[in-house]
Amino acid sequence: MSKQTHAFQAEVAQLLHLVTHSLYSNQEIFLRELISNASDACDKLRFEALNHNALYEDAPDLQVRLSFDKNAKTLTITDNGIGMTAQEAIDHLGTIAKSGTKDFMSRLSGDQKQDAQLIGQFGVGFYSGFIVADKITVETRRAGAKPEEGVRWISAGTGDFEVETITRAERGTSVILHLREEALEYANTWKLKEIVGKYSDHISLPILMEKEEWKDGELIDPHDENGGRQPGGMVKTGEWETINKASALWTRPKKDISDEQYADFYKQISRDFEAPLTWTHNRVEGSTEYTQLLYIPGKAPHDLWNRDKKAGIKLYVKRVFIMDDAEALMPSYLRFVKGVVDSADLPLNVSRELLQESRDVKAIREGCTKRVLSMLEDLAKHDKAPESTDGVTDVLSEEDKAKLGQYAKFYAEFGAVLKEGLGEDFANRERLLKLLRFASTTSDTLSVSFADYKARMKDGQDAIYYITADTLAAAKNSPQLEVFKKKGIEVLLMTDRVDEWALNFVHEFDGTPLQSVAKGAFDLGKLQDEEEKKAAETAAETFKPVLAKLKEALKDKAEDVRVTSRLVDSPACLVVTDDGMSMQLARMLKQAGQKAPDVKPVLEVNPEHALVKKLDGSVHFHDLAHILFDQALLAEGGLPEDPAAYVKRVNALLS
Ligand code: ADP
Repeated sequence: MSKQTHAFQAEVAQLLHLVTHSLYSNQEIFLRELISNASDACDKLRFEALNHNALYEDAPDLQVRLSFDKNAKTLTITDNGIGMTAQEAIDHLGTIAKSGTKDFMSRLSGDQKQDAQLIGQFGVGFYSGFIVADKITVETRRAGAKPEEGVRWISAGTGDFEVETITRAERGTSVILHLREEALEYANTWKLKEIVGKYSDHISLPILMEKEEWKDGELIDPHDENGGRQPGGMVKTGEWETINKASALWTRPKKDISDEQYADFYKQISRDFEAPLTWTHNRVEGSTEYTQLLYIPGKAPHDLWNRDKKAGIKLYVKRVFIMDDAEALMPSYLRFVKGVVDSADLPLNVSRELLQESRDVKAIREGCTKRVLSMLEDLAKHDKAPESTDGVTDVLSEEDKAKLGQYAKFYAEFGAVLKEGLGEDFANRERLLKLLRFASTTSDTLSVSFADYKARMKDGQDAIYYITADTLAAAKNSPQLEVFKKKGIEVLLMTDRVDEWALNFVHEFDGTPLQSVAKGAFDLGKLQDEEEKKAAETAAETFKPVLAKLKEALKDKAEDVRVTSRLVDSPACLVVTDDGMSMQLARMLKQAGQKAPDVKPVLEVNPEHALVKKLDGSVHFHDLAHILFDQALLAEGGLPEDPAAYVKRVNALLS
């Protein structure tokens, strides 16, 4: 194939522009990205070679080599991994195959710092080379292809790239970066070693560099390239040395790994710029043997809500990389967890299908789930400093101090996802329930656990009361809460979209039933005294004739109309039957284009309210009845069926 010119896919061109313009503050990540690609390429070769040993040709030792040429101003990253065919080079280095790219692009704000973070999270991979290079040449040959089937790919990172066929004896890929003037510092042994140490130490593949020494053999100062000596004194020796630790981090004993190394490894596998919140690292022995290194990120990724989002677990078998995003290893509600599982028992040629059925995998998933839950329980337990009983306040160990506030941080990012587990993971439901936190009528922050709530329950209270709404403000101002406020009874305020669904699976906590204050008939039981009950009964009795008229007027809208003592300041509210779907959930389903039953609510009226008292004998009875209903609907975040008619009725009364 002679030289061909191809245009980049539009998104690539856009991404390239961003890469070169917003990643200046964190230039050096280009090396991490390119080494990571080289390492992936070696993993792929190892995997394919499981069934085709010949792919190793005469070079079975997989490795990455870094070299630079100061005169030519180039830095080259060479791997002897899988390589690319011409078509693969065109496809993989000219388009962005990853889904979600458009979505990602649309989130960029134009603010450099923020965008750099996002780009880091997303991982720009190969294109990050253009941060330091104004031209990149890639020379590659697919493992198993003939030497004449090599490929050269060249681009200046603007609109297009060139591809041509070359002869290349070695299998694998060389990425040759033609360094920009201002990036010449990377053509330097110490600089490269430093970056590799920082980001790529734990890559299980050896990273090699050619040894250099002073011509006169004198000792050198490692921090000063020239060491005050005559220039040109450093010469390459032709001997290559491994510059990374080259042992997979998770195989090393915990005590030999620093927090910083754990955090760096996390950044590498998650492509997150920020440190993780916490992690757990264990060797599990028993019926199935494996090592797990699991992290909880500090921040939710932008696609957390995509339930098809890939899980964040990389699967290795006996240190051989098998696959990314092994969703069978972690339940969907823990999809934010990142990490590595290295199994000693699974076959190397395990496929995704096989994973779904394997007993070992099931055991690993259960083990990982339990570990993550324990990790969260530990954070939850240490979230607040224990109240001092003896006036001694400074009793926390450094380790415990570091955990203060961490659970609240976690919960703000991932609490809502965790709730999906209530419907997904019956075996761990009790543990999950204890991990939930809510806002309530006594706390605006997500800090109230069911146990906290129970401890504060009033004498005679026999249910955990809650309300669901679209927003905290709507929940707090719900008319249904009025009598609870008056009596000082705490109500949990639930405003996550998943709450309604998740609560379908929960009927009680530790023996105490959960009760929505917007569902079913109102019954405060022992919390209402005899006098109040009597008064309510009398009011209901005298109100009977009006009720009958209301029912008739609203028969198309309301399932029933009844008096209530749940209201104090509001004239009316809507409730649904005990087993009915809440109006909020029905609305949500409809908005999402799903089928939802037509919920006909019950209208409850407050016979003590002036507006309600006016109903009896009013010439505007019909209009008032409808306004009462529509206002109750508005108060809980709904919309009148016929908003124009509502406005007309209100205006008629106002004038
Ligand atoms: P990612 O690695 O996240 O898929 P990149 O932009 O870094 O995205 O790379 C795009 C694709 O190019 C890779 O998925 C891979 O198929 C191919 N590629 C990149 N570098 C190499 C390499 N050193 N050897 C073989 N293939 C590579």
